[in-house]
Amino acid sequence: MPDNTPAERAGGAVARTTGASASPPEKRASWLPGPAQGFGVTFATMFKKVTTEEYPEVPKQTKPRYHGRHVLNRHPDGLEKCVGCELCAWACPADAIYVEGGDNTEDARFSPGERYGAVYQINYLRCIFCGLCIEACPTRSLTMSNDFELADDNRQDLIFTKEQLMAPLLPGMEAPPHPMRLGSDEKDYYLRDPRPGSPAEPVIEESA
Ligand code: SF4
Ligand code: SF4
Repeated sequence: MPDNTPAERAGGAVARTTGASASPPEKRASWLPGPAQGFGVTFATMFKKVTTEEYPEVPKQTKPRYHGRHVLNRHPDGLEKCVGCELCAWACPADAIYVEGGDNTEDARFSPGERYGAVYQINYLRCIFCGLCIEACPTRSLTMSNDFELADDNRQDLIFTKEQLMAPLLPGMEAPPHPMRLGSDEKDYYLRDPRPGSPAEPVIEESA
C-alpha cells in the first residue's frame, strides 16, 4: 500500500486533533451556582494545615543527600585533593566547570600528586545540580554540600572561584603549599601507613 502524502498525513492529524477536542467537558453535578462552588473551595482551604515556609526566618532543612553548592575537599594535612585532571569539566553537561591544571614542585606543593587544580571555577548560572561532576571526580575532591542559598543580583558573583569552593582548614591542617605530611611518597600518603623512619605521621614508641 502506498504511503500517505504529507498533506494527507497532516490532514489526518488535524482531523484526529479536532475529533479529540470536540467532546465537551463533563459538568460537575451540584445544586450550588458556579461562584458559590468557587468560594466553597476557598473556604475549605482556609481550614487546611498551613504549609507556608517561613524562609528565611526559619532556614529550610534539606535532605542529607541534597545537591547544593560544591566543595573542593582537602586531605587531613591540608593539601588539596584536586589533581587538576578536568574530568569533572568533561562530565558536566552544562559546561559549567572550568579547570586549569598546574604542576606541583618540591618547593610549592598544593596536592600530593604530580598536578593540582591551579584555576577552578564553577558557573552557577549554568549549573543544573545534576551531580555528574562529583561522580566523575577520581579523588573525591569534588562533593556537594547542602547549601542552596546561591541567589545574587549580578552574573559575575555567581561564578565561584577555587578560593570560594575550597573547604575550610580544620584544626591540624596547614594551608598549602607545603610538603606531604602524611607519607614520604604517594603510596605512603594514600595508604596512611608510613614505613619506619618516614616523616609521615609520628611513630608512637610503645613503652617497655
Ligand atoms: S552539578 Fe551537573 S551541571 Fe553542575 S557543575 Fe556538576 S556536572 Fe555541571
Ligand atoms: S575536582 Fe576532581 S575531577 Fe575535577 S579536576 Fe579536580 S580531581 Fe579532577
